[in-house]
Amino acid sequence: MSPWAPPAPQAQVEFLLTLQRLLAEGSFVATYKFALLHALADLALVKGDDSGAPLALSTADISSRMAELYWRQAAPYSGGTHRHEVLRHATGSQAAIVNELLAARQDAEGSLSRFRRDPAAWWALVRRVDRVVRQMPLWKLQTVGTERLGFLYDNVDGGTSIELKPGVAWCLRAYYSLVTELVRSAWLRFIRRHNPGLESGADLGTFLFGGERCDLSPYLPLLREVQRGECFYCERRLVGEGAAVDHFIPWSRYSVDLGHNFVLAHGTCNGRKSDLLAAERHLERWVERNERTGLWLAEAFGEAGLPADMDASVGVARWAYAQTARANGQVWTHGTELEHLSGSWMTLLAAS
Ligand SMILES: [Zn+2]
Repeated sequence: MSPWAPPAPQAQVEFLLTLQRLLAEGSFVATYKFALLHALADLALVKGDDSGAPLALSTADISSRMAELYWRQAAPYSGGTHRHEVLRHATGSQAAIVNELLAARQDAEGSLSRFRRDPAAWWALVRRVDRVVRQMPLWKLQTVGTERLGFLYDNVDGGTSIELKPGVAWCLRAYYSLVTELVRSAWLRFIRRHNPGLESGADLGTFLFGGERCDLSPYLPLLREVQRGECFYCERRLVGEGAAVDHFIPWSRYSVDLGHNFVLAHGTCNGRKSDLLAAERHLERWVERNERTGLWLAEAFGEAGLPADMDASVGVARWAYAQTARANGQVWTHGTELEHLSGSWMTLLAAS
């Protein structure tokens, strides 16, 4: 039996209140702390579990995720009276991480996947980001005024790893969308405050954090081959232009592109599934497809510069199904039909 247990309801509330307090009272001279919090939530989801256990994270993993988050933000932005410049991410001179990303973007003409096709260049970039992370936000994140809270991890002020305290990964997973929404809106407010003249539309949020509808067409031929020209969901032939690359775990739940999470479907099947989780019969096929072609897919996606870590994709799926099961939510089968989970998802995702 696990020596750990999920945090008690009161501890969960305290976690959220402390997080709110951190965002309201912490001092933010750059956007680093937002990116760090976001990265911790993402990693809790990919690497953690729902046992309530502590979770060790390397600063390299944290920095890698932060570099991904900053990649799009280091592009020039046009909007309102703000004209085609990189947004300011710090109160003084531009944030060092943004400058690192700016240089990397120039090497790859702005394409993250192109840049990642050279793993050595990517990890060299991560190491440079990591130096800043360990110097700046990592040991300052939990400081509010003269208080050091230490509710997420111990402030040991050095080293290349941290350990999320018992219950922290659990809370970050249980309240993932709440936490990331809070962090993103605080991040957005910082950007608005320090970049006068930005318009008030939704564009800025999409620019900073991405949208589902970025161009996934480069992966279409690859998926067509793996699925032998059939729709992933209804298994009928894909004909003509109606095929869409679908996020198996919907983008609205976890907005990171991971190779193994992509399936190819009819535009109509994709549209009907929408933001719902797929039924367990589809999950079974997804697991089977990844077992059958996962290594080949990882290689092909890797060559295309797309992160394709099967464990990460399975981790995200396990989290998403556990969340839906806990809320007694429904999943999509076909057309407009929904059903409740039977529990077979646990075996499917445990075995792989
Ligand atoms: Zn279909």
